[in-house]
Amino acid sequence: MIYLTIPDDVLENHKIYMCEDFANRICLKTQFNVIRNKCQRPMIYKKMIREEYHREKRSNKKKSKVIENIENYSLISCKDEDIIAFGEILNEVINEMENLCTGDINELTRIEKSFENALIEHIPRNGKFRNYVRAFIGDKFLNSYTNFSRGGYIKEGKVWNRIEYVESFNLNVCPYCNANFILTIKSDNQVARAEGRNIETKTEKRRGTSPELDHFLPKHKYPLFSMSPYNLVPSCKICNQSLKGDIDFNYEEFYSLLKQV
Ligand SMILES: [Zn+2]
Repeated sequence: MIYLTIPDDVLENHKIYMCEDFANRICLKTQFNVIRNKCQRPMIYKKMIREEYHREKRSNKKKSKVIENIENYSLISCKDEDIIAFGEILNEVINEMENLCTGDINELTRIEKSFENALIEHIPRNGKFRNYVRAFIGDKFLNSYTNFSRGGYIKEGKVWNRIEYVESFNLNVCPYCNANFILTIKSDNQVARAEGRNIETKTEKRRGTSPELDHFLPKHKYPLFSMSPYNLVPSCKICNQSLKGDIDFNYEEFYSLLKQV
């Protein structure tokens, strides 16, 4: 194994990606802020949930995710106090957002514990709603990772995405196995994006390849950390997918791969 140090600019760029809006890209912190503000008016929020539910029901679609969530978590019957508590929990996540972007494994473990404690403290009785809040926030982080894989601007002319992230480490070999080369070749589209040019859609395009990003702590089990640099290890496909998949590794033993400077 090769021990890695996360370059300072990775932490800085990542913090901007997660905590600052640019042009039409709304960062996750702002998205949480918007919902947190809605939670401060629980009557209106509950009305929105009801209206959304009936609208989806009327639209004759197959069972949608909205309907499924509202029914599975009994959202129609949640109380004002639950909605207010939802806002309080979002507040905790908003306050930890920068720490999620810069924290090492000890810091992430602290955040996870404090998040679980906040859920129980603020929503002590309604277990279904508690699970909803946990899943809702987790899904937002997972979506954010999906978007990050495709990429977005953090400032004028500066793209920040999975490929730029991996490139910043300047690695030639997978740090887990120390055997397979990991190589980034940008596709024509990615080059155009990185240079801020428009993407030509008609001409034949060169495809690219890039190393994978391993979620050391599996992202479906620890969605809160799906965008944390200390949990995003550039790796080869074999180490990321074939060997590990979504299994919980003995991470405390392995995790020291990414050391804090
Ligand atoms: Zn490998």
